Amino acid sequence: MSLIVQKYGGTSVANAERIKNVAQRVKRSRDQGHQIVVVVSAMSGVTDNLIRLAREVHGSPDDREMDVLLATGEQTTIALTAMALHAMGTKAVSLTGAQAGIVTDGVHTRAKIANITPRKVHELLDGGHVVIVAGFQGVNESGAITTLGRGGSDLTAIALAAALKADLCEIYTDVDGVYTADPRIVKNACKLDEISYDEMLELASLGAKVMQSRSVEFAKKFKVTFSVRSSMNDNPGTIVKEETRKMEDVVVRGVSVDKNQSKVTIVQVPDRPGVAARIFKAIADAHVNVDMIVQNVSELGLTDMTFTLNKDDLPRARKVIEPLVKEIGAKGFTCTEGIAKLSVVGIGMRSHSGVAAGMFEALAAEKINIQMISTSEIKISVVIDAAGADRAMNVVHGKFGLGK
Ligand code: ASP
Ligand code: MG
Repeated sequence: MSLIVQKYGGTSVANAERIKNVAQRVKRSRDQGHQIVVVVSAMSGVTDNLIRLAREVHGSPDDREMDVLLATGEQTTIALTAMALHAMGTKAVSLTGAQAGIVTDGVHTRAKIANITPRKVHELLDGGHVVIVAGFQGVNESGAITTLGRGGSDLTAIALAAALKADLCEIYTDVDGVYTADPRIVKNACKLDEISYDEMLELASLGAKVMQSRSVEFAKKFKVTFSVRSSMNDNPGTIVKEETRKMEDVVVRGVSVDKNQSKVTIVQVPDRPGVAARIFKAIADAHVNVDMIVQNVSELGLTDMTFTLNKDDLPRARKVIEPLVKEIGAKGFTCTEGIAKLSVVGIGMRSHSGVAAGMFEALAAEKINIQMISTSEIKISVVIDAAGADRAMNVVHGKFGLGK
């Protein structure tokens, strides 16, 4: 008998029919004698709708109330999934995040899990129930409902798998697994049988929206091996796990694109110690995540500082940068929307050379201009015009022979 955590995303529970399909799959695993914990997202579109509704009543709704509102999406699906299982004669009980013992910090709408005490989950499993837990939510120390940030149900599943020491964690979604590139953009992209945490992390944070990246970080930290697979078929999916020697033989594992980026340049920043610290501390204090940072070689004691960030964070960043520019004595700042970040990822880059050259050649051949470049041990990213992003992705994918 194994303990299995199964997570079903929004499209997998999008309507009554799909919820019954999920229940059928859960029942099948249960009937094989396993203990099953199910984590579900809100039905697809529901969270977006709730956010829209909130904005109709208030321009910038209170974060605490936002969490109370958003948590209802997942609360709907846990109850419906439990009912669907009851209809099939399977014992099942639904639990909210708080009831499942998921305690978070107090940062509303993007809380971090502090600890999980799954006493109730264990009790119910021991009583022969399938336990259905609401994804994406928890409770803070003072008892208020919190949510874990968009896509946070993945995190709930991984964290529960770690806390319960589950034998298996399966992330069910609407794709067959992790691909060498988004198959909607690159028609001949291939499904990967396995991928390391680091590669998955880079791909997830780079916009391959398979999974929320915080959940992959969590899995890496607590060594939770998991699979990403489809809830619509029985294909094996992609296993995400610690890297093995053999994985390094593949130089480029995948190509990804993030079209949700914006670029900010602070112009003519005085080049003296403490200025970068001042800028990025202020931005961090506004809870804005900065991605690529480039500082130019300075000329006459002045330098340009450019960074990228999620485009949704741009209004918040703008608010901090405006007064900051005056304070540090810079000339001004510019914001650019409509950019994309294209990246190639692979742990094999640690031991193979020539990847950057290959990528730049492929882009040059298509006359695609590179605006920024950044590299890490296992990744090369370039910022390009969003309009050419899909074409760029296809040529780079082809260049590294990743297609079928
Ligand atoms: N319902 C939440 C969202 O849409 C959480 C999730 O689906 O994982 O972000
Ligand atoms: Mg989702």
